[in-house]
Parts: sequence; structure tokens; C-alpha cells
Amino acid sequence: MSSSVHTPTQQETVTRLRTMERRVIGRPTSDGAGVKLTRVLTQDLQRRLDPYLMLDAFGTDNPEDYIGGFPDHPHRGFETITYMIAGQMRHNDSYGNEGVLRNGGVQWMTAGRGVIHSELPEQAEGAMEGFQLWLNLPSQDKMTEPWYQDFQSEDIPEFRTPAGVKARVIAGRSHGVKGAMERPITQPLYLDLHFEGPAQFEQSLSPTANAFVYVYRGDVVIDGETVPSGSMAILNNAAMADGVILQTKASARALLIAGEPLHESIAQYGPFVMNTQQELLQAVQDFQAGKFSRANRSG
Ligand code: MN
Repeated sequence: MSSSVHTPTQQETVTRLRTMERRVIGRPTSDGAGVKLTRVLTQDLQRRLDPYLMLDAFGTDNPEDYIGGFPDHPHRGFETITYMIAGQMRHNDSYGNEGVLRNGGVQWMTAGRGVIHSELPEQAEGAMEGFQLWLNLPSQDKMTEPWYQDFQSEDIPEFRTPAGVKARVIAGRSHGVKGAMERPITQPLYLDLHFEGPAQFEQSLSPTANAFVYVYRGDVVIDGETVPSGSMAILNNAAMADGVILQTKASARALLIAGEPLHESIAQYGPFVMNTQQELLQAVQDFQAGKFSRANRSG
């Protein structure tokens, strides 16, 4: 995949390490029209990993596991971040937006006050692999206008550390390299790290940020604890800690994700995530009244 290659301009100096609080193994499930996936960040972890609401990993060589895709469905109150690492997915929404997300690309969608969209595989065979992360919106922004952007692989800034680790910066900032997206309040950091052998990667983190690592190839060691492929490490929040170090003995790949918590109440009903039950009821009513599309948004 081609890409936007940057030179690291800054070293991340981590002196007091975050430790691993616990390891979580993803739960196999299916969603949409029978797409098999692993739910890594489940609803019971939303409070702990605030501002993140969900992380799904999907990866299969069998078209039967993905061919149905995700036909038309609504969202309100948060953002979806879809990162494809193999295959292609076509997106269509009720605001007339359409795009194809390819290998290495990211779609960042702000559902805001409401959107209906479909996410369908643009292929009938071969491997399909990727991740969908849900990032909550602060209450003040939950009813913002829907928005989205497709970042193709070459639009994702990446750099290589002196230790040979390749980092793709989807959001936030790492080693002085600014990512494809920034968000002011939750300050999301979203890195895809590729280790090609024994190496380590340092990343400074604000002590208040909630942070986790999802390993999807090989093993990663965090503060002496091994995190195998298919599992997530939740990092401790210690007031004195200033970052994390990921180490590998062989090739591995992992997502490092962090963000500042909103500390707001979370009310979820399927694809709607608001602050109160009343707002959820309103979301269902507005959806049923057809208010999740451009033509009816003033209604
Ligand atoms: Mn969706």
C-alpha cells in the first residue's frame, strides 16, 4: 500500500510506564446481515474505556462470513471509524455520500443527529479484514450535522522509528507526526503499529487518557506481560505514569488507542448512543419519522 511517509521529528520519552490492568479476549458474534466478527470492546467496558464505545475486529478469507455486509441501518450520537487492512467496502448514506474504502484506508463518520447508511463488501471473494471503532461525542456535539471523510491509504501519515517499527497515525500525534484526524475534547490517539522483529515502541500518554492495545498479529509484551494476537490489554491509569512501551520478540501488529474520557452518562439502544433514556426515545421517534436524511432534517 502506498502512503504518506513522514520523518519522526520528536522522540517519545517514557520514564514511568503504564502497566497492564487486564487482558480481554474478544467475543465472537455476528452483526449486519450475518457478518462474523469479534467484539473486542464490549458494552460492559464503555465506562472503563470512555470515550470509546465499541471495537469490532473482522477478518476472514471466507466470503460467506462477510458477503451480506451491513445493509441500511441508522446511527446517532457518536462517530464510527472504520479501518480496512484487506479488502474493499462500499459506503452509501442518507445524505447522498458514497465512497469505497480500500485496503489501508480509513473512513471517519460523524453520525451526529442521525444518518442511515450501508456498508457492503465491494468483492465476492478473497480476504476481508479490518476494524470498526466507535468514538463517543460529547453531549454538546451529539446533535451536530452528520459528516464523513474517506482517507485512502496514501492519506494516512506514517513513519518508521530508528528501531524499525512502522507506525500509521490515524488520529492524534506520535513522534511529532500529526495523524489524519484530530478531535479537540476526547483527543483520540489511534495508531497501527507494525513490528518486523524484536523491537520496542514508546508512546507518551496523558495520565488521564484511557488507553488500550489490541494485538492482531503475533505477541506484544507490555510491562512484562504478554498480550497475544486476538486480545486487548487495558492499560492502568496511574497519576504518575507518562506513557507506554510495547515490546516484541518477533513480528507483530497492534492497534494502540487512547482518548480523554467524557465522564458523561451513556445511554445506548443499538446504534443510538445518547446521554439519557429520553434522548434515546427521541432518536427512535426521529428515525421512524424519517428525520435521518437530508430531505427531512428540518422536519
Ligand atoms: Mn454503521
